[in-house]
Amino acid sequence: MGSTVPIALPALKTNPKFIFFTDFDGTITNQDSNDYMTDNLGFGTALRKQGNQDVLYGRRNFRDSFQEMLDSVKTPFNECVDILRKNITLDPGFKSFFEWARENNMPIVVLSGGMTPVIRALLAHLVGEEAVDTIQIVSNDVAPREGKSINEEGGWKIVFHDDSGFGHDKSLEIRPYARLPAEERPVLFYAGDGVSDLSAAKETDLLFAKAGRDLVTYCENEKVPFTTFHSFADIHKTVQDIVAGKLTVQEAATGRK
Ligand SMILES: [Mg+2]
Repeated sequence: MGSTVPIALPALKTNPKFIFFTDFDGTITNQDSNDYMTDNLGFGTALRKQGNQDVLYGRRNFRDSFQEMLDSVKTPFNECVDILRKNITLDPGFKSFFEWARENNMPIVVLSGGMTPVIRALLAHLVGEEAVDTIQIVSNDVAPREGKSINEEGGWKIVFHDDSGFGHDKSLEIRPYARLPAEERPVLFYAGDGVSDLSAAKETDLLFAKAGRDLVTYCENEKVPFTTFHSFADIHKTVQDIVAGKLTVQEAATGRK
């Protein structure tokens, strides 16, 4: 069957039975790197939280609100990455989950509203260089502003992945897998925490939403089945039970615990 796999579905390369899609910021990491930059280097927490609420309740689209947040950060890009390396920490359960997934042929695909160079730098720093080589990253990018270099004051801007109101519509990457014929289709998981995950929330077989975060509210309002997690240790246990056939994805979707 390997030869029939379309090139657009890179996670099928090893014929996995399960694929784990995940948000990066605030999900694999404890803090959101874009929020951190906005709060500490840009226009601050109050305006950022107002923007998040406006998106969550449909008053604005994610793209415009997010662009405004990052435009308020004028710090050179290399300095931003250094500051993030010093301040962003890894979910305590992620590394062992990553190793288990690799041993069990479960690809991890990062779908992020953040910027690829930040994610690569943080994954290498927090998990190890092998994580950068192993984990597929689909996210937004960064580019210099006209006449500037990214590593000077006011020199960089975010470049969105697609034209959607999400900036990066995460459903675009998941849907081709979801639409595979039943006999070829792996079980699809997704983990996320916030407004950047709204586009992905309805697409997979089991959604893990971080306890106490905006994605839980959204799933309840929109009646999307989900289960909550506190750290990747919770996800690890549930996914392991599903892979072992002890639990079904339907049984696992218990909502707010
Ligand atoms: Mg997030």
